[in-house]
Amino acid sequence: MNQPKQAHSSGRAASPGRLYGGLLILLQTLFLPGLVLGGASHDYSVTVLEDLDHVEVEARLDAEDMRLSAPRGRLRRLEHFAACEAGRVSGVGDSLRVIGGCVRYRAFIRPSKQTLSSYRRPPTFAGHESWLWLPMLRGDDVVRLRLTVPSGTHAVVPWRLVGDGRYELRASPGSGDAIAWFGPATTRQIVVLDAKLSLTLLPGEKGGPLNLFVVKPWLEEAAGLVGSVGGRFPNSHVQVLVEPGESAFFGDSPVPFGHVIRSGEEVVRFFVKPQATTKALREDWTAVHEFAHLLLPYVRDDQKWISEGFASYYQNVLLARGGIYSEREAWQRLVRSFAQADKSTRPTSPNDAHMRSFWDVRMLIYWSGAAIALMGDVELRRVSNGEESLDTVLSKLASCCLPSARVWDGRELFTKLDELSGHGVFMPLYDKHANAPGMPPYQSLLEALGVKPKDKSVNLDGTAPLSQIREAIMRERKTPPVARGVIR
Ligand SMILES: [Zn+2]
Repeated sequence: MNQPKQAHSSGRAASPGRLYGGLLILLQTLFLPGLVLGGASHDYSVTVLEDLDHVEVEARLDAEDMRLSAPRGRLRRLEHFAACEAGRVSGVGDSLRVIGGCVRYRAFIRPSKQTLSSYRRPPTFAGHESWLWLPMLRGDDVVRLRLTVPSGTHAVVPWRLVGDGRYELRASPGSGDAIAWFGPATTRQIVVLDAKLSLTLLPGEKGGPLNLFVVKPWLEEAAGLVGSVGGRFPNSHVQVLVEPGESAFFGDSPVPFGHVIRSGEEVVRFFVKPQATTKALREDWTAVHEFAHLLLPYVRDDQKWISEGFASYYQNVLLARGGIYSEREAWQRLVRSFAQADKSTRPTSPNDAHMRSFWDVRMLIYWSGAAIALMGDVELRRVSNGEESLDTVLSKLASCCLPSARVWDGRELFTKLDELSGHGVFMPLYDKHANAPGMPPYQSLLEALGVKPKDKSVNLDGTAPLSQIREAIMRERKTPPVARGVIR
């Protein structure tokens, strides 16, 4: 889905017509509280056919003349389209012009082989971006969907469930390929503080089924650690999808791959080795890293150092707080990663890293951002005498702004963090390091924290000036946010 456009003023003086419109809205607000002045509302009926290869869609639109598009859809993949009653529907480029307010179409939903990555092979269906033809969604616009699937078929779609077979879809950053799945699946809830995340385990092509009794407690603990940052999970409607996965490329990791998709509702997706043990999963950082991405809104794709950096910082901090890493191990991992990123030949700045091959600069992308997150966290704790921290400011960010339907800019995010904390900490860091080549200089900070690299390990110095801040960052939470190992 395209990025929703922000409303902007034209800068012209108010015309009489505009004044009249404003007065009308004021009167309606004062005297007609029942009248909803929100965004557009469109009603879709989606039927998955028995062959599981096609959907039939009826879209009743909010306006008489609208253009619909699907970001990855092609008109040639529509087997049929027509107006519902009176009206006319025509294909214009790769969009549909609907005159009369309603269109019916039938679409093929199996992904073409060429578009499948190694993790997108059948029987996963093409995401809704390929077959759900929508008007541009802005602000409060909503698409209300009624979904019908063949009996015995489970539906996984990135839409918000609001009732039996009824969903809502709103504007989203449109990052990643949404997942659609129609078939057998195991579903449960992950309870994190007051949030209930929906968990779906999908069958895989090979490797056998996943063990719910191993996978669920692992995700529950990881989501709980991320929820402990702000006292609540940043998005109570997130969907968690787990598929069996093997990958020689990712070596022995019990979780070969994980990622966050923000096209429709936020989805966190993991590939897990079916034979992975409870111990191996607990010691793996992937789940905490992926859930930690939800602590921030989606930041521009060319500023990955922010989202990857903050998630990489928290993966170490939270595994230490959860007692899975010792304080020393967490610092050791951070120091080792910083040093590896520092070895980049021909270093680029964090903001320019997107112009280089990802594999050449990936360490710099992840760990420059993590170093900046650490710098901000320490400085905020220092200037506020421990009243504020990265945790407290992200808690406020979650309250005001998450989940966010749009794409943020790094400068905008850092400005917001400073506004929320009341301390000018993050923007000065952005100005100093975002456009400077290489890793931000982190050595003097580590020294002040009392983290002293020694051979391949680190020593922690309790007499260092910022050693109390160092201890506070990694300190274990008193009450674990979720009970471990409980299957609901
Ligand atoms: Zn990541």
